[in-house]
Amino acid sequence: MGGGGGPTDADWAAAVAAVRGLPADARVLLICHVNPDGDALGSMLGFALGLRRLGFHHLQATFPGPPGAPEPFRWLPGIELLVPPGDVYPEPDLVVCFDAASESRLGDLADRLATAGTSLVLDHHASNTGFGGINLVDPHAAATSVVALGLLDRLGVTLDAAMATGLYVALTTDTGSFRFEATTPAVHEMAARLLATGIRPGDISRRVFDTRPFGAVRLFGEVLGRATLEPAAAAGHGLVWTYATRDDLTRHGQPAYVLEALIDSVRCTAEADVSCVVKQSGEAEWAVSLRSKGAVDVSRVAVGLGGGGHRFAAGFTGRGPLDEVVASIRDALPSNVLPPNS
Ligand code: 5GP
Ligand code: MN
Repeated sequence: MGGGGGPTDADWAAAVAAVRGLPADARVLLICHVNPDGDALGSMLGFALGLRRLGFHHLQATFPGPPGAPEPFRWLPGIELLVPPGDVYPEPDLVVCFDAASESRLGDLADRLATAGTSLVLDHHASNTGFGGINLVDPHAAATSVVALGLLDRLGVTLDAAMATGLYVALTTDTGSFRFEATTPAVHEMAARLLATGIRPGDISRRVFDTRPFGAVRLFGEVLGRATLEPAAAAGHGLVWTYATRDDLTRHGQPAYVLEALIDSVRCTAEADVSCVVKQSGEAEWAVSLRSKGAVDVSRVAVGLGGGGHRFAAGFTGRGPLDEVVASIRDALPSNVLPPNS
């Protein structure tokens, strides 16, 4: 990758050359990370529509795991490009990966990195392993869509509302709707460019962030009702956590994606720096979301437990009984408290 400072001019030039060097009938496969969020899907589909603008017509977009995007994203322009992972080109001419810090986030689709003519990685995780042939990784970018738009611009693609919709969903997802520290002047300038295409931010935000089935509202009530506060955890910075089982989902008739928003209702707890949601994903398997308000490096906590992410938003897959998974997090917190003012 281009070092901690983001892609170099040579990295950008290599990426532009890789795309420009392809014939119009090249097979291009776009992959985003497992359990895709707004940045993964929005960056991928926004970029895909840009490639279509350039004349590419053998385009596939995909992600590992059960096929079909979560309900809040099914209306995104370009969604028709999604194909189930089992149906993707075995040997694409170009593969482009979005928002994945490592090959493991691509599941079984990681083999396409080897079978593709060229592989291109677009990401913004500081922990990115540089697993692509060409890596455009900018740890200072607020979202992967910042990198995606940077490449579209260099390819000479004119932004339109369809492309901008995905890129905007990505930007608002990873900045918490412009609330997080990553919300720089450049982020607002990019948002201004996207909005200038005529997209409707109120409509987009309502669809992506503010719409869920009534059953999910009831489910949240139950799951939030059993949240636990541990003020002494993380060397006194505090931990708040809760969990949701597959049985909880079944009882309320809800799909797993509705739990993605749960962490936002937990992390507002004033008494805790670290927040955590443990979501059952298998018999003894849990998808763990971690957030910090700044006192703890949860990326290091997650990496230590086999996952990854950003300093203040990270995750991993926990295995074993729930109380052991929670204990593993609790135990990892004190050694990852950041020095003051870091
Ligand atoms: P979330 O809690 O929203 O699922 O994820 C927060 C961040 O943690 C994401 O940006 C993602 O990069 C990272 N993350 C979440 N789960 C995993 C995981 O299982 N493995 C890795 N490597 N990163 C994860
Ligand atoms: Mn992201």
